[in-house]
Amino acid sequence: MNLVVAGIDLGGTNVKTAIVARNGDLLGQDSRPTHSEAGLDAVLDTMAESLDVALEHANVDPSALLAVGIGAPGPMNWRTGVVFSPPNLPGWENVPLAELMRKRLNVPTYVDNDANVACWGEFWSGAGREVDSMVCVTLGTGVGGGIVVFGKLLRGPDGTAGEIGHMCVSRGGRQCNCGSRGCLEQYASATGLVHTAVEGIESGRKTMLMDMCGGDVERIDGKMISDALAKGDEFAGWVMRETGIWLGTAIGSLVNLLNPEMVVLCGGMIAAGDALFEPIRTTAFEQAFDVPAKRALIVPAGLGGDSGVVGAAGCALQRYEEEEARRR
Ligand SMILES: [Zn+2]
Repeated sequence: MNLVVAGIDLGGTNVKTAIVARNGDLLGQDSRPTHSEAGLDAVLDTMAESLDVALEHANVDPSALLAVGIGAPGPMNWRTGVVFSPPNLPGWENVPLAELMRKRLNVPTYVDNDANVACWGEFWSGAGREVDSMVCVTLGTGVGGGIVVFGKLLRGPDGTAGEIGHMCVSRGGRQCNCGSRGCLEQYASATGLVHTAVEGIESGRKTMLMDMCGGDVERIDGKMISDALAKGDEFAGWVMRETGIWLGTAIGSLVNLLNPEMVVLCGGMIAAGDALFEPIRTTAFEQAFDVPAKRALIVPAGLGGDSGVVGAAGCALQRYEEEEARRR
């Protein structure tokens, strides 16, 4: 029997599950709403159901399941699989997620930070599969990060390493949810993108966004900005360029710091293409030393929206194999 691993991407809005072969091939998937408001047990049920359906779609017998990996929003203890109190899973307080799901599924289950699993997915089976050292930046509601050095995730003694979204890019800058100011997340997330647009409009710049939002800037969202960009709105191009410059500032520092072979960007915002990547590359390479800048490729995710689920499966496979090796 060909053994497989499963990856579950546990988000505040959706639960996504993928069944993945040991070589990284995606065999089947499922996605459904999390309904986090229904409470912990309901979310655990949803994950178990999603896993069943993904196994069906992959045409794989449940007995072939070697391990399950869950990518969950932090903060957490990745070793014990305890999730502390994720902002988008209301009511979760020190939930032993790995243990609860292991009991429910009767399969070894591991929990990891959602940005780290996305990074691992790209490293294992996506854009970074030919490299040894890479950095991954996920652009969503927040900005997540993951770092692989010489084939290993850089976790740090407390498991908190790789918080690229909370690198300071502007001293005394925008207030961040983490309590600090000027974090990259406040400029390069979907929320940051909207913040930049609203600031621009309030300073008197003209844009079709004003018509699109019916004159109410509170209604502007990331989708509206990318629609305006696609329609050729100059201001939307400026917003994207500003966002790219903030990202390039952080990535230039990362290139100097880590000398990665590749920097992979994930998340819906990368659909903006050159409007985003061109200012990122220009800024990062201007800022970084020549030698690491020549080395570092700055590229979009190879797995599209699947980096997280594939990576959760990959992390679980690796941790399962490490445990097996220790037992022998
Ligand atoms: Zn922060």
